[in-house]
Amino acid sequence: MGLFSKGIKLPKKRLGTATFDLIETVLPKRAVLPLKQYIGEPAQPTVKAGDKVKTGQLIANGDRDNALPLYATISGKVVAITEHLDHKGTTVPAIIIEADGTDTWIKSPTEEENLSSLAPLEILERIHKAGLITKGLLPVPLVRDLVPVDQPKTHLYLTGTRVVKKIDTLLITALDPEPSLRANRYLASIHNEELSYGITALKLITGAERTLFVVDKNSPPCPQLHDMVAADEEETTGITSIDGRRFPVGLSVPLLKATLGREVPIPYGHPRDVGVAIYDIDTVVSIGTSVHRKIPQVDSLITVGGGALSKEGIARIRIGTPIGELIESLGGFRENPAKIILGGPMMGMAQYDLAIPITKDIPGLFALRRDEIQLTEGYRECINCGLCVKVCPVNLVPGMLSMYCARDRFEMAEQQGLFSCIECGCCDYVCPARRPLVHFFRHAKNQLLEG
Ligand code: SF4
Ligand code: SF4
Repeated sequence: MGLFSKGIKLPKKRLGTATFDLIETVLPKRAVLPLKQYIGEPAQPTVKAGDKVKTGQLIANGDRDNALPLYATISGKVVAITEHLDHKGTTVPAIIIEADGTDTWIKSPTEEENLSSLAPLEILERIHKAGLITKGLLPVPLVRDLVPVDQPKTHLYLTGTRVVKKIDTLLITALDPEPSLRANRYLASIHNEELSYGITALKLITGAERTLFVVDKNSPPCPQLHDMVAADEEETTGITSIDGRRFPVGLSVPLLKATLGREVPIPYGHPRDVGVAIYDIDTVVSIGTSVHRKIPQVDSLITVGGGALSKEGIARIRIGTPIGELIESLGGFRENPAKIILGGPMMGMAQYDLAIPITKDIPGLFALRRDEIQLTEGYRECINCGLCVKVCPVNLVPGMLSMYCARDRFEMAEQQGLFSCIECGCCDYVCPARRPLVHFFRHAKNQLLEG
């Protein structure tokens, strides 16, 4: 961890209960499926209101790269194709399906054992067809993020020098974006046959010669990962453990610094610029499933937590489940929540409508009690204490940035590195003036992106 010393060490209270229990949930009565759950173009519906659909059936087409196909996540009847609110507060077109309660699948999955005979483009095609996206701040179709070994991308460094970088390392992380989220650490602790298919697929696509697992030293043991390291006679697979409680070490930019000592160029750099393909275990397992069994993504593994929820743990739920239905299926609220968040408590977004659906880019749902939240009402002027600078993992000056944003001087904020901000919330967390810094930054980015 000596390579990454910024960020913050979260107190136990902010980590939530460290349960890794898998909770049973029931199928939703309705699924709300936005045509776009990533940055890109929306998929085009292939069904209309009144059509009956089966689970796994294609309901909207998406071209390669900019749009992804969309599949029914429950069987039932399409009741509407209409505008619906998403977790970012925007209205998006969505297909709404009412369940018939049978969960009838369109077809049984096929299995293909020998992936090594597949060409990288065939593997990419299967990943695209499964509708997989990247994790993180700006989710994109996963195929846009993957660089085939025979088609390396050219990248522009800030110095103006164009370079083509070969991927030398496949870094697979068992850390979660925030310590309160636990899906990756849970997946790393159990055996999952799709994981090795996912790794094979990624190595074939990227040409990476070395694989490095990163695990959290505070989490349950990961026997499958250790077995894979031991079984690799060529010794190209390794494992390293770090302290996942130092937030935000689970995010790719700080994680690369913490594990390999490589710095991603900011603001517009990518891990591939330093020769690394980095994916979390959940994504690698999904890749394995899509390539090995050719089934689309219809569900998602998310963390559910917070003192106001009756049950906490990890839940596999169908994409499109409205959050109200998910909460009901968890036994409802233990007490009235002070705040409901989609994402994690540090980086997630507060929600005000229980009809919002869980989409592919949402890693968690938290219903927090009053004593679990930090209120930011009545913030004060910056007192230049410098605490935010000390913790910022990407070396920004958040206090100054926030002043530009608060005065609508967005271009100045951009010049000072606004788009390098990974919205981790560390600056918010330490600010004694309670300035809602991430809120300022998100607003400024939106203003600049919308032109
Ligand atoms: S400025 Fe952005 S990256 Fe830096 S601490 Fe604040 S939220 Fe995190
Ligand atoms: S922590 Fe808050 S008060 Fe201190 S410099 Fe940063 S923005 Fe200003």
